[in-house]
Amino acid sequence: MRVGIARERRTGERRVAATPETVRQLVGLGLEVLVEHGAGEASGHSDAAYEQAGAAIVDPLGLGDLDVLLHVRPLAPETPARLRRGAVAIGLASPSTELPTVRALRDAGVTSFALELVPRISRAQSMDALTSQALVAGYRCVLEAAMRLPRFFPLYMTAAGTIPPAKVLVLGAGVAGLQAIGTAKRLGARVSANDVRAASADEVQSMGGTFIHLDLDAADAGGGYAKELGADRAARQRQLLAPHVADADVLITTAAIPGRPAPMLVTADMVRAMRPGSVVVDLAAESGGNVEGSVAGSDVAVPTADGGGTVTIVGMKDAASTMPTDASRLYAKNVANLLALMTHDGSVEPDFGDVVVMDACLTHDGEVRHPATVEALA
Ligand code: NAD
Repeated sequence: MRVGIARERRTGERRVAATPETVRQLVGLGLEVLVEHGAGEASGHSDAAYEQAGAAIVDPLGLGDLDVLLHVRPLAPETPARLRRGAVAIGLASPSTELPTVRALRDAGVTSFALELVPRISRAQSMDALTSQALVAGYRCVLEAAMRLPRFFPLYMTAAGTIPPAKVLVLGAGVAGLQAIGTAKRLGARVSANDVRAASADEVQSMGGTFIHLDLDAADAGGGYAKELGADRAARQRQLLAPHVADADVLITTAAIPGRPAPMLVTADMVRAMRPGSVVVDLAAESGGNVEGSVAGSDVAVPTADGGGTVTIVGMKDAASTMPTDASRLYAKNVANLLALMTHDGSVEPDFGDVVVMDACLTHDGEVRHPATVEALA
């Protein structure tokens, strides 16, 4: 069967859905692999490397000839109609926001798998792109902060005096937040964090951070995810966090609620109360923002309340794509492992009796299979 890897078209996207390493894996499964000319260029993979791995380079990729299309970003709404009925598409689909594409996949009879829907169970960890890409994003947030902070992260004891370590506060301690904690610790900062899930205190401590206990009940939604706080509790959380934010040199926010806009954790007043030179990195800037005033893809300078200078708010955009080589290495493995699960004797045949295949399926046979997306479309 014929598997195609397209060059990503969305501005700012530098990842690719297959690397030469995963092309070898797919060829080993008995699949024929076509790579669009230049698909791996932005992530450091030449056409020649794909050819050596066993792929054919094509320009352009003829979508109508494919049995399987692998992609990174959600497909454009006009793409599914160019695939043949019954073709398989695997990639990120953002089903809660990309409803026109979901409709188009359904109407074109494409069997699509959304990596966001892969269940977060042990057996599916090797296919969990949310985790692999959040790891890249969490690491990158800390580097962005470190490059802008007019101070060291680590403690230095020198003949000219002692420099205390920077204080880093992380709000939202899921995969990205925990990675941010680990990265900031490795750079020598003093790190504290808060999250609303009951398990997060232990998780933060296991990464070497200090958990900030607030006088708020835990808000677990099950499955390891958080529940949205009501307006009163959200206001209370902001009030309780305010002194911790004011005391931080670096604030990194990664809080999210699946399928919902990001919770607003930090108001403009809380930012203004920070010390001059402090840096705020909002990883949630693209999905509504955890910080009032953050702008995805931009730095915003906010004057401090004491008039002594500014705080920089960094609105992260395409965070995983800023490190396209390793982000692609992990993403492509996630995709190839999911495809391998559905491939038998060189033929791609999804077994919907398998919970991973069933849960990850977004559309099949002219129907939307994901209940929350069915509701959103109604
Ligand atoms: P996410 O991106 O949905 O959210 C990021 C974090 O924001 C979460 O930890 C969430 O609790 C937190 N958050 C939400 N509202 C908040 C608020 N008001 N204040 C502070 N924090 C808030 O989550 P994620 O990073 O995708 O991870 C979700 C969970 O899935 C975690 O428990 C993680 O351990 C678990 N997980 C399990 C597996 C597995 O078993 N295979 C793999 C990956 C992740």
